[in-house]
Amino acid sequence: MIEYETAVGHLDADCFYVSAERVRDAFLRDKPVGVLGNQGACVIAKSYEMKAAGVATGVPIWEALVKCPDGIYVKRDFRWYEVLSRAMLELMRVVSPQVEYYSIDEFFFQASVPRGGSFQKLAESIRDLIWERVKVPVTVGIARTRTLAKLISDAAKPFGALAVLDREAETKLLADRPVTEITGIAGRRAKRLAVWNIATCLDLARADRRLVRSLLTASGETLWWELNGDPAQPIHTQRPAHKALSRGGSFGETTDDPTVLHAWLVRNLERLIEELEYHAVLAGRLTVWVSYKNGQVGVGQTSLTVPSDRFDMLLDAARPCLRNAWVPRVAATRMHLIAEHLTPRAEAPLGLFDRPDPRLETLARVKRAVNARHGRFVLRSAATLPLASIYKDVANGYDICDVRGKICF
Ligand SMILES: [Mg+2]
Repeated sequence: MIEYETAVGHLDADCFYVSAERVRDAFLRDKPVGVLGNQGACVIAKSYEMKAAGVATGVPIWEALVKCPDGIYVKRDFRWYEVLSRAMLELMRVVSPQVEYYSIDEFFFQASVPRGGSFQKLAESIRDLIWERVKVPVTVGIARTRTLAKLISDAAKPFGALAVLDREAETKLLADRPVTEITGIAGRRAKRLAVWNIATCLDLARADRRLVRSLLTASGETLWWELNGDPAQPIHTQRPAHKALSRGGSFGETTDDPTVLHAWLVRNLERLIEELEYHAVLAGRLTVWVSYKNGQVGVGQTSLTVPSDRFDMLLDAARPCLRNAWVPRVAATRMHLIAEHLTPRAEAPLGLFDRPDPRLETLARVKRAVNARHGRFVLRSAATLPLASIYKDVANGYDICDVRGKICF
């Protein structure tokens, strides 16, 4: 019998949205390309050529145009990005018995080679396989733990493949990287570490474990174990059940018009209901969260007497939440609608007074069937009429949060 050695791999596509656009349009290769989100208002991904021109992710389009006037700017298309993401995921599932769908372009996986085999060769073969079959450039890192594997793939970008398993090479890598390169360490947490002269990943790995725990709580201690080569974060082959579901985002164009805000509430609610139906859960609590141009944030929350996934009941609950979250005469920039206290539909108790209304249940069913057959949002509430231009633009028809099964955004 062949004996295997195992390690943890991390695969991350290089400037994924841009690479995905290049898969279907070779004209975009080797040119500065930016992908626009938020109704075309800002750059959510850029090619290395555009990065070299000084364009950062998240900058508004008008700033990007000053820095990179020759750039090619395209609208995001998450439906297409998901097609390629799933193609990569399928290939990874052939290569590895355990794959975690971490985000649309990032997977963790169990890397195994016959005893004495080369993890470096495995990393290279996976990178080349994805390139050959999907035409998306990726970087693969292999190490003793997830945290190390991710640090390694970040260091090896772009189109890199690197396995680091011997201690000496690991130490050198950690010494070269600031702690802020570790996912989950930024801002306040980094400052807390700086007080103790912990600046590099190696400083953190060498620090006293109890000190790390006192500074960064249990999640920091997990990172400490991982940096020292002890796997403390398993590979999740299945996404754990959602504790909360939410829909929302930026309006693109700010608004202080209550009719438009209400339209956004209804749009987000219809999208949230799709999610509730997909996961077969009912919402027990709703939160409406609105942020404003002047930095203010408004929040409204309510518990439902009867958990529900029905439009009329949830809208009745959500309206007073929006009223609480509303700041009159101030321009609002984004909204989130969050459902919590989720109960599986099959387990929902039926009270004496909350039997499903057959007419409204039928209406919900017809709406679902029409949209499934003729296109998402074809049948929708008339309250969304002020957002006609949003619905007209196909780029808004599918969002990153509509890609299901990811562990992380
Ligand atoms: Mg990536």
